[in-house]
Amino acid sequence: MRAQSARARSSRRTRLVRATRYAIGTILITVAALSASGEEPSVCFGTTADGRLKNGWELPASGSNYSTHWQAGRVLNRSFVHSSVHAVVLEAYAELQVTMPGTIFVYGETGWKYGGEFKPHKTHRNGLSVDFMVPVLNEDDESVALPSSVINRWGYGHDFDESGRKGKLRIDFDAIAEHVYQLHVSATKHDIDIWRVIFDPALQPYLRGSPRWEYLDQYVQFSTRPSWVRHDEHYHVDFDVQCEPRY
Ligand SMILES: [Zn+2]
Repeated sequence: MRAQSARARSSRRTRLVRATRYAIGTILITVAALSASGEEPSVCFGTTADGRLKNGWELPASGSNYSTHWQAGRVLNRSFVHSSVHAVVLEAYAELQVTMPGTIFVYGETGWKYGGEFKPHKTHRNGLSVDFMVPVLNEDDESVALPSSVINRWGYGHDFDESGRKGKLRIDFDAIAEHVYQLHVSATKHDIDIWRVIFDPALQPYLRGSPRWEYLDQYVQFSTRPSWVRHDEHYHVDFDVQCEPRY
C-alpha cells in the first residue's frame, strides 16, 4: 500500500511538473507572440485613402494554410495592419483550416506600421486595407499558391481571362467566398465590419455559385464598378473600424 501511495504521489508530482511546464511554455509563447506583434492595440486615423496608423501589427510570414506573397516585401515592413484587422485575418485563416482544409491562401500587400502613403496603392493608408491574392487550383484540381516572383510582380502581374483562368490555373471562387465569409464572421465578433470588397466585377458572378453567396449578398458590399486596376489576381478588403480624425 505504502509503495502504491508513493508511486501515486510521484505520478501526481510528475503530472504537476508537466502541467506547470506546459503553462509556463504557453505563457512564454503568448508573450513572444504579443511582443512580436506589438502589445498595444492600434489606433487608426482618417480614411484608407488619407490616413495613418499608430502601433500597427505585422502579419506573420506564414501559417499552416497561408503565407505572404512576398517575403522580401514583408521584411521591408509592407505587411502591417490595425490590431483588430490582425486578429480577424488570423482567425479567418484558422477557421478556413477547418472548413477548407488543404486550400492554400496567400495574402498580398497591407501597409506600413505607421500608415500613410503606400505606393503604388491609392488606399492602404490606415491599417484597414488588405490585399488577398486569389486562391487557385491547378489542372488536377489541387489548391496551389498563386505563383509569385519578380516576373509576375509578386503575383500582381497575373492576368486571368473572363472565366478566371490563366494557363493551367483557375481561380477557386468557392475559396474566395468562404474566405470573405470567414473574414466577415470574425470581424463581427471583434465589433468591426467589412466596408467593401474590391474584386473584378466581371468575375464576381462566379462567386454566386458558392454556398456562402446568400450570406455574402446580404452582408458584404462588393465593388460594382471597375476600379483603377483590374483586381482579377487579388481581392482588396477594406475593414470598417472606428478611427480618430486624420489630424
Ligand atoms: Zn489593395
